[in-house]
Amino acid sequence: MEPHANPLLPGGTMEITADRDKFMVRRIFCIGRNYRAHAAELGHEVPQAPVIFMKPSTSLLKPGNRIPMPSHGAELHHEAEVVLLIGREGKPASPAEAIRFIGGVSIGLDLTLRDVQNRLKAKGLPWELSKAFDGSATVGTFRFLDLSHDSGGIVFRCLVNGQERQRGNTADVIFPFPVLVHEISRYWSLLPGDLIYTGTPEGVSSLNIGDKVTVESELIGSFTWEIGE
Ligand code: ZN
Repeated sequence: MEPHANPLLPGGTMEITADRDKFMVRRIFCIGRNYRAHAAELGHEVPQAPVIFMKPSTSLLKPGNRIPMPSHGAELHHEAEVVLLIGREGKPASPAEAIRFIGGVSIGLDLTLRDVQNRLKAKGLPWELSKAFDGSATVGTFRFLDLSHDSGGIVFRCLVNGQERQRGNTADVIFPFPVLVHEISRYWSLLPGDLIYTGTPEGVSSLNIGDKVTVESELIGSFTWEIGE
C-alpha cells in the first residue's frame, strides 16, 4: 500500500497536520478494545459493538511538543493507535461507502491515566478525567492511504526511549476501519476534520517524566514526544 494524492483535500495534499486552528479538528472519536490481545490484557471480553468515547479537540498535541504529565493520576499509559481523518461531510450508507470519507491516516497516542480510569470504571463513572485531559491525544502528520480493500496491513509500533513496547497490525482489528466510520456516523453526522483513534494493540505500559515516546509506521512516518513536568 502506497500513499496517494488525497482526493478529499484541496490540491490533493498528501501531508497535513491535524492542527485544530488550521484544519478545524472539531471532534475526536476514540475506539476502545479493538484488538483482542489488548482487551484480554485489561481483563475485558471481546465487545459485540465498538466501544466509542470522545476527547475534546483541545487535547491534541502535535509532534515536537512535550506531553505535560497530568498531576491527578499516577499511571500514564501509552496507547499507540492508527488515527483516521474524516475528509467529507455526511452519513455514509454502508461500510463500503464509509471508506470514501477517510481523508487521511496517521498514528498517535491515546494517553490514558490507567489508575484513574480503573477507579472511574469501578464506580460506573464517565472516563473523561482519565482520557480527555490536555495533551492526551498526540498525532503525527496524515498521509492518504487507499483503504478501499480493507483496513489491514498497516504495521505500526510504539517505542519508549528506543525500546519497543507495542507492535500492531491493523489486519488484527476486531472492527475494520470502514465499519468504525459507518458505526460512528449512525450517531454523529461526519464532518471534515473529525479524527478517529482506532484502538490499541497489546503492550500498554507506564510513562515517566523525561521519557521519549515514539510512534512509527513505514507507511506513515515516525513521531516523537517527550514527557514533561
Ligand atoms: Zn485507546
